[in-house]
Amino acid sequence: ICLLYLSHQNDGCRTLPLSMHVGFDSLPDQLLKKSIKQGFCFNILCIGETGIGKSALMSSLFNTNFEDSPSTHFLPSVRLRAQSYEIQESNVLLKLTFVKTVGFGDQVNKADSYLPIVDYIDAQFEAYLEEELKVMRSLFSYHDTRIHVCLYFISPTGRSLKNIDLLTMRSLDSKVNIIPVIGKADSISKTELQEFKKKIMTELVTNGIQIYQFPTDDETVSEMNTITNGHLPFAVVGSMEKVKIGNKMVRARQYPWGIVKVENESHCDTVKLRRMLCTNMEDLREKTCAYYELYRRCRLEKLGCKDVGPENEPVSLQEVFEAKRLEFFLEMERKEEEIKQRFVQRVNEKAAMLEEAEQQATLENRLHREVLSHNTWRYLKDKYMWHLGTWFSGGVGSDGLTVVFHDLKGLSMS
Ligand code: GDP
Repeated sequence: ICLLYLSHQNDGCRTLPLSMHVGFDSLPDQLLKKSIKQGFCFNILCIGETGIGKSALMSSLFNTNFEDSPSTHFLPSVRLRAQSYEIQESNVLLKLTFVKTVGFGDQVNKADSYLPIVDYIDAQFEAYLEEELKVMRSLFSYHDTRIHVCLYFISPTGRSLKNIDLLTMRSLDSKVNIIPVIGKADSISKTELQEFKKKIMTELVTNGIQIYQFPTDDETVSEMNTITNGHLPFAVVGSMEKVKIGNKMVRARQYPWGIVKVENESHCDTVKLRRMLCTNMEDLREKTCAYYELYRRCRLEKLGCKDVGPENEPVSLQEVFEAKRLEFFLEMERKEEEIKQRFVQRVNEKAAMLEEAEQQATLENRLHREVLSHNTWRYLKDKYMWHLGTWFSGGVGSDGLTVVFHDLKGLSMS
């Protein structure tokens, strides 16, 4: 509380004028000031086939041209590409991260297409958890990359959801706020669009897929949100270009038969989507925290942390830590013993192999010498002894190479 003091004295009484209103009802203003100073961050994930209009929609929603190289249809797997921007409106700074899938739906086998997306969302939760568990943490300045909303692009086929759509949305609905949108909605007629929207909503319910519902418990937005929930999935149109209509440049798509205006609510739901994202941004951020809590709980439980023991007694973090440390040491000891035994076993195996090889070599050597001495003697006898016309006795030396001759007089030479 701030008091400013006195200025003047009047008839012996001091008057203390206040420089500003004093009271704890100024708390929201303090929070507001702090939040404005810090800025806000909002992360959007766009999932959809290559060329369905993800980049064009993002540019249209935030009236900025997000520079992005076009992706090809030939990637071997699905990847995620993140780009961050800072957008300013009045004195409010928004750090916007736009993450989009590349190569989604382009592979022959699409069964695992959702996995890289799940991994990406979990990786952002994990990064936040790591920061939270640091001794020297700074969550205030930490760039939160957790995904606040996922715009799921449905192809404007007019038929139904594809298997890949159901599979992906089902694997994500417990991790992120999903808002389904029909991409390139200008390619579907008005009556077909209404039927298609109904069909999609029925299929989502039948398959037990939870999508984000705009909150209706806050009376200031309750009516608008109830009506908007009835417009889901949004039929969106995006464009990177601006067209001159009258003396105004507007974001639109120009065709030989006419112009589709992105900002015109009777042409598409892009403006509705923008309005709903902006008015419910805080709710989306809060729900993301709830999804994060779920992730954090599972993760810590997996690590063996718990709040209560088997008999509902409170468990301190210190106890959990000690137990985990002991478990870790025992595991390490077990592994060390296992490695030692494996090493001894391999040494014994090698020694046995060497011994066997040595025996084999000795045997082969002996055989070789015998064969050699036999052949040498026969060769020399055939070639020289008969030729000399003399009987010689003798033999091959023990090395298999030296030949010893004895003539009849007992003289010998080798
Ligand atoms: P991304 O690969 O999903 O990011 O798709 P892009 O936003 O790069 O758009 C791919 C192509 O589709 C571009 O030629 C866009 O002009 C076009 N496009 C984007 N949005 C729409 C739309 O709402 N309707 C139609 N008809 N074409 C669109």
